[in-house]
Amino acid sequence: MAEVESFQLDHTAVLAPYVRLIGAEKGPKGDVITNFDVRFVQPNSNVIGMAALHTIEHSMASLIRDRIDGMIDFSPFGCQTGFHMIMWGEHSPEAIAIVIKNALEEMASDKFGWDNVPGVAEKECGNYRNHSVFGAKEWAKKILSEGISTDPYERKII
Ligand SMILES: [Zn+2]
Repeated sequence: MAEVESFQLDHTAVLAPYVRLIGAEKGPKGDVITNFDVRFVQPNSNVIGMAALHTIEHSMASLIRDRIDGMIDFSPFGCQTGFHMIMWGEHSPEAIAIVIKNALEEMASDKFGWDNVPGVAEKECGNYRNHSVFGAKEWAKKILSEGISTDPYERKII
């Protein structure tokens, strides 16, 4: 069976919320892609409900791109505790954590509402009925109140 880095992580030892570099991969032409574990809630203790998770995914697609170049993907873990963030080029967990924090601050702010969530029409989304802006904003506030660490095992809050 293939060895998958994410399954080697001791999910009982981490302290969420955090940003962790999973790895950097170099392609045949020298391009580098970095993959981050953006963990919003403590594994096996809590989960982000599907509607809020879905709205966070849609919102982050533009909030992150407004703040940093080179994002390839930001997609939810099946365990509903966070997201994979895949980037062109090399980036530090600190740089990514600052972008995530700043994006969540905008999501949590009073000016952020349904009109700011992209791609939520039936034509644009595979399950457009399953969104919660209220849930996304409440989770953003909770994650920010706990602080985002740049180390998965030690609380080094940015
Ligand atoms: Zn969708």
